[in-house]
This record gives sequence, structure tokens and C-alpha cells, in this order.
Amino acid sequence: MNPLIAVDIGGSLIRAGLFSQNGKILCRVEKPNPARQSANTIIKSILAVVESVWPTSGRVQAIGISAPGPLDPVRGVILHSPNIPGWDNYPLVEELEKYFHVTVRLNDDANLAALAEHRLGAGKGCNHLVYLTISTGVGSGIIVDNKLLIGSAGIGAEAGHMLIQESSPLRCGCGNYGCLESLISGPSLAEQARLALSQSQDSLMWQLSEGDPKSITAKTVAEAARQGDALAIEIFDQAGKNLGIALTNLLYIFNPQMVVIGGSVSKAGELLLDPARQMVRKICMSYYWINTPIVLAELGDDTSLWGAYYLALDIHF
Ligand SMILES: [Zn+2]
Repeated sequence: MNPLIAVDIGGSLIRAGLFSQNGKILCRVEKPNPARQSANTIIKSILAVVESVWPTSGRVQAIGISAPGPLDPVRGVILHSPNIPGWDNYPLVEELEKYFHVTVRLNDDANLAALAEHRLGAGKGCNHLVYLTISTGVGSGIIVDNKLLIGSAGIGAEAGHMLIQESSPLRCGCGNYGCLESLISGPSLAEQARLALSQSQDSLMWQLSEGDPKSITAKTVAEAARQGDALAIEIFDQAGKNLGIALTNLLYIFNPQMVVIGGSVSKAGELLLDPARQMVRKICMSYYWINTPIVLAELGDDTSLWGAYYLALDIHF
């Protein structure tokens, strides 16, 4: 049984692992991602990272790749990358297959994180699962009947752009206002804190940022909220309520057995999840949430790498 290689192309790091077919990590490396340079530079880095975990003897069965969307997992093409100039309609799978002469599969990082939580993490044993990741952006992955839902063009399951507040002044990366991502992502929470501090500095966040609101991140807001700061608690409370509205929509559509929340902002834990659950209970019919726990993800920084391993493992030869 030949081993598999998984690669996670993240915003700041490219990670790769050599996995045995039964899920043992035989070798793992990570290198800085030279994003914002050129498509040529990043492809060279990906090739180098894969080569650094390539087994010294024997063959590799397949390579699974996790990358930020939008991408086409069926054709293996990166449709667009806001961070990498020239990575538009880039045939990543074709390029890697030409170089390594093994089967390569690609999917987006949130879908693969969902797959990993479904196979190995909090959602293990669930046939139907909704996964949301809240960090710099908001991504999602939906498992229906044990399979990832990708939609007709492979770009489905993007709950981050679900419209929650049409009249919101907060602009999303997609250009719209009031998408879930624009309301609850890490940069959005920080921006909401900065806006509030421009009105009144009566908050622990002012001290934590040493009077420099530009330095505030979602972590600062969480730290202040944990210490009882009313303004920071209010920001998380509102974000949790908006998350609850989004989850209600997802519960009605997918009727999952479990909802799993991951990503760096989810480290705030109950600050976010408690108001989200309260909102769900308030606005959603109980049949839809009574047997559906809303829980935190269990896998850490390697979630999408594990997802890429399962993607490679699922290829039938
Ligand atoms: Zn959007």
C-alpha cells in the first residue's frame, strides 16, 4: 500500500504531510507561503514542499491539495486567488500531475476541514454535518449522506456569503453588505471594536491596545470579553446572534446531526456559541435543533491537511 501526500496551501504557510493509507503521519513539513509574489513563485514552493516529504523509496499513491477558494474541484482549477497575482483559472491539478506523475485532487480548505471533522474530529459518526470556520473569512463545508456537497460547478456550500443583514454598513470581501462573513469574521469583530472605540474609549480594549485601536484583533476583543468588558461582550453577543441566524437557515435546509464550528475566532468558545444557540432556540422550530448539538471543532491547525489526506484516500484507482 503506497503512502499518500496531503498539502495545505494556507495564507501564511504551505504544509505538507506524507501519510500511510491508515492515517499515520510519516513525515510533515511547513514552509512560509510566498503569497503576493507570483503564480510561478508559489508553484515552485508547492513543488519543493511536496518533494521534501516524498518517500525516499517506493511510490506515492495520490496527492490531495487544500487551497483557498474559489476553485473548481472537478477540473482541479484555481478560479481566483485574491492573494496571489496571476492565479486566475490556474490548472493546479494538471500542473502537479504533469510534474509528479500521480493522481492529484484539489478541494477548498473549508470543505476539506469539514471532511476532516467528519472523519476524525467532532463530527465523527455523523452522516449529515454542517461545518463553519470563522477566522479571517467565514467558510463552510456541508456533508450530506457522508459526502461533501460541492454543487453543480463545484463552488457550493459557501455559507459565509449568506445574506444576514441587508442594511448592514459592514462590507464583505465579495463586495456585498451584511454577508455572514462581514458580520462575524475576525477582521469584522476588530473593525466593530475600532468603530465603538472611536465613540467612547470606556473599554478594556482601549487599555489592551495601549490606546492604538489599529492593533486590535478578534483575540483582543475575546480577551477583553473574558475579563468582563461590556463592549467586547456586546460585540461577541451580536456576532453570536448573527451566527445563530445563519445556523437556523442551515438547519432548515440540511437538517444535520451536528453543527461544528472551527477557525481562530471559534477559540472564543461560549462567548460566541452561547448567544448563537440562544438565537437558534428563539427563532428556529425545535424539531430542527433539539437533536442537533452545536459544538466546537476538535482538530487544530492541521484540519485542512487531514482533509487533503482524506481527499487523496477517497480516490478510487
Ligand atoms: Zn460576501
